[in-house]
Amino acid sequence: MSNLHSAPAPLSIDGEVIIVNNDTDEVVCNGGSIALGHPQVWYSFDNQDNVTCGYCDRVFVKERAKTRFPSQT
Ligand SMILES: [Zn+2]
Repeated sequence: MSNLHSAPAPLSIDGEVIIVNNDTDEVVCNGGSIALGHPQVWYSFDNQDNVTCGYCDRVFVKERAKTRFPSQT
């Protein structure tokens, strides 16, 4: 039986992880280095520590929360 309350960590992600400053409120993504890219989109963290780009699955993570994500640097 699955539990909707997600396990503490690590999170399973498919995309690249981008670490940003803790005081960052918004990030912009345009697909960056991936082959196709996508229209530039702004995402607000909206009081969360991470936000996922709906286009390219990149995950923007605040510095303080990065330990919850696999390091890809
Ligand atoms: Zn993106």
